[in-house]
Amino acid sequence: MRRRRKTKILATLGPASNTAAKMRELFDAGVDVFRINMSHTNHEMLKQMVGALRALAEDVGRPVGILCDLQGPKIRLGRLNGGPRMLVEGERIRLVLGETSDTPADVPIPHPEIFQAIKQKHALLIDDGKVRLRLLRKADTFAEAIVEVAGEIKDRKGVNMPDTLLPMSAMTPKDRADLDAALELGVDWIALSFVQRPEDVAELKKIVQGRAGVLAKIEKPKALESLAEILELSDALMVARGDLGVEMPLERVPGLQKQIIRAARKAGKPVVVATQMLESMISSPVPTRAEVGDVAQAVFEGADAVMLSAESASGSYPVEAVQMMDRIAMSVEDDPLYHSIIEAQRSAPERTTPDAIMAAVHEVTETIDAKAIVCWTKSGLTAMRAARERSHAPIIAPTPDLATSRRLSLVWGTHSVLTEDIRDFDDMVKRASQIARQEGFAQAGERIVITAGVPLGTTGATNMLRVAFVEDEQ
Ligand code: PEP
Repeated sequence: MRRRRKTKILATLGPASNTAAKMRELFDAGVDVFRINMSHTNHEMLKQMVGALRALAEDVGRPVGILCDLQGPKIRLGRLNGGPRMLVEGERIRLVLGETSDTPADVPIPHPEIFQAIKQKHALLIDDGKVRLRLLRKADTFAEAIVEVAGEIKDRKGVNMPDTLLPMSAMTPKDRADLDAALELGVDWIALSFVQRPEDVAELKKIVQGRAGVLAKIEKPKALESLAEILELSDALMVARGDLGVEMPLERVPGLQKQIIRAARKAGKPVVVATQMLESMISSPVPTRAEVGDVAQAVFEGADAVMLSAESASGSYPVEAVQMMDRIAMSVEDDPLYHSIIEAQRSAPERTTPDAIMAAVHEVTETIDAKAIVCWTKSGLTAMRAARERSHAPIIAPTPDLATSRRLSLVWGTHSVLTEDIRDFDDMVKRASQIARQEGFAQAGERIVITAGVPLGTTGATNMLRVAFVEDEQ
């Protein structure tokens, strides 16, 4: 089974989609990686979902990726003594440390770190930015703020503080417990929410120890200040436009999305565009024209994956939303302008042997119109450097490593195949041709480009390019 599309589709599981039957429908519609959101998932549910997805992969005979998204330190209001409250523009209010307040007029926040870190003139955005406060003065356990944008506040609503570097790790005790459970179950990717500093990613990587790929969600202005260092430490990025659009002026999000995609592409690391891509399909079987344009834009930019959140987790049309994404991505990839746009953003190779080989692979593939690039890979690195080139031909990544085959399901244009290790050079060429034919990428007599590291099995040692004719079945 092969997909015709290079851009991958990530879908979030939830009440609308977490049965084995629905997962199968979603896979058939085009999902490559399933996202489990730990904000709404306990360990029992996590175990059931991972079990069902592994059974699905077995059934369909294809690697299926699982991304476990840690909730992170989401800051929330406490319980309002006196219930929901309307804040009026220009009103001065007192914020107090605690789960609730003694005085109904005070607004409780149960996070001492906020009172330590916030500074005069910093903004506090409540309920996805619907209400905005500006800090006037503060002490250790209370602060005074003025209401700049009026609105109603309620118990436990989220608080974003775009100007403040919070002295908190991106991992709470709940995240650590969720991470242990996810690693124990062998998920393929771990997503880290509310990353502020490179140290947040380093802390996670130290625990993960290569047992999963680490994806940093870019949703805070502080993360953008050190994007290069965060990217260097991460295995992948997500443009998490939900929180990013609260913490930054909304009109800046499209530009930031391009900037993040280009940085990740240049580094040769997968990048996911997330949130509200087909939002109206939560309750409608057809999306808006603007949403179709939004998905198309991410595909034209060469993002590795586009993501569904509530559309597939709790919406009324999860399968239709995946089918829609699938159709949009294929249509863009078939567009006559697509390759010239993708090519215009191609980065020069880094000054390494593997990248020099990959640049040559790209040239040869385009020149002879090879039907596939076959990358023999153990760690997945060879395939990821090939994907960085965004060549016209699909990338087949045969690997003897199950974890690698699953992890590559997030990578642009890559069709991973779990297979026995190769014995020698001739075996490599012969089996590349067999796999390309069997998986439906090339017919006998057509050409493929093969690349690998020789001697075989050394990670990061890609140094060989070979053109081969696909042979008849013997
Ligand atoms: C986002 O904020 O865009 C995002 C993907 O994170 P979450 O859905 O976990 O809030």
